[in-house]
Amino acid sequence: MAKRDYYEILGVGKNATAEEIKKAYRKMAMQHHPDRNPGDKAAEEKFKEAAEAYEVLSDQDKRARYDRFGHEGVQGQAGGYGNMDDIFEHFGDIFGGFGGGGFGGSRGRSVVKGTNLRIRVKLTLQDIAEGVTKKVKITRQVPAAGVSYKTCPTCKGSGQTVKVMNTILGQMQSATTCATCRGMGKSVDKKPANADANGMVNQEEVLDIQIPAGVQQGMELSMRGKGNAAPFDGVPGDLIILVEEVEHEVLRREGEHLHYDLFVSFSDVVLGTSCEVPLVSGKAKIKIEAGTFAGTTLKLRGKGLPSLRGYGHGDLLVHVNIWVPKQTSKEEKDMLEKLAKSPNFVPDSKGSKDKGFFSKMKAFFSE
Ligand SMILES: [Zn+2]
Repeated sequence: MAKRDYYEILGVGKNATAEEIKKAYRKMAMQHHPDRNPGDKAAEEKFKEAAEAYEVLSDQDKRARYDRFGHEGVQGQAGGYGNMDDIFEHFGDIFGGFGGGGFGGSRGRSVVKGTNLRIRVKLTLQDIAEGVTKKVKITRQVPAAGVSYKTCPTCKGSGQTVKVMNTILGQMQSATTCATCRGMGKSVDKKPANADANGMVNQEEVLDIQIPAGVQQGMELSMRGKGNAAPFDGVPGDLIILVEEVEHEVLRREGEHLHYDLFVSFSDVVLGTSCEVPLVSGKAKIKIEAGTFAGTTLKLRGKGLPSLRGYGHGDLLVHVNIWVPKQTSKEEKDMLEKLAKSPNFVPDSKGSKDKGFFSKMKAFFSE
């Protein structure tokens, strides 16, 4: 029987790029895959033919020789795929993404992994500033008491079953995931009545979760192995902890820094005063100098949040605002009008530059 042209087999032109050849082979392999065409000898032949063509055309050196000398140029260097497994072994990467279980992933026993559990923890700014241990109740899957496993009788523990077919080319085998144990190699021997098919039960557990200082809204912490356990002595999943920040009444967070809007009276900024500002825990006294402009920011160094990396603290930035009453009495109005006429209270356009927006940041050292 004359060999068909490799390009023709894959349905590509002589100038096809490596990517086009790979794509064409992938398509052919999917179409004629034995799992999709059980017992179809013609499909099997096409599957092997495509593998041989791909082996040559995907190799620059072999392709060059084939282009010059035809089949003779690559004799003994391609093909000979009597066994489907060889093809899977050889072109494993090409089959990636075809859906796992069928092949590629079917070699050998699968390791069972328990699923991850996800919980949310609500944290106050104080929790975040100091770090905290939270007690949480979770429900996780664990092997039931008294469950026992046995080696899967169908696959004898290998996790796969091998189909042997007699063809004109001799014996062909293809391995598939064992249907009885779904690749685990084990099955449940004895289990209590309340356990599921894999011998698992739900169990409530109370865990202490250590939350480090400095975490942020949306951050995910994970506790390895504290998710659902896996049947058949597999690996347990993880517990994923999603951080939710409870908004503080008056402090606003920005990374490691905190912001606070301080409201003082007009006379306070004119005459100067001292007032209290809230910290995450406790309070601090700050001094407002006489002549402080509205919009001035006072910085309380180190009074912000600790860095998650464990060194340094952010600052507390106090924004000075002037409280303006919505209504005034006749008496207040008279006083204000009198003040407004005083030359000292008329805005000075020359002096406004160094008191304007760009120079309002002032360092303030708290004791
Ligand atoms: Zn099995």
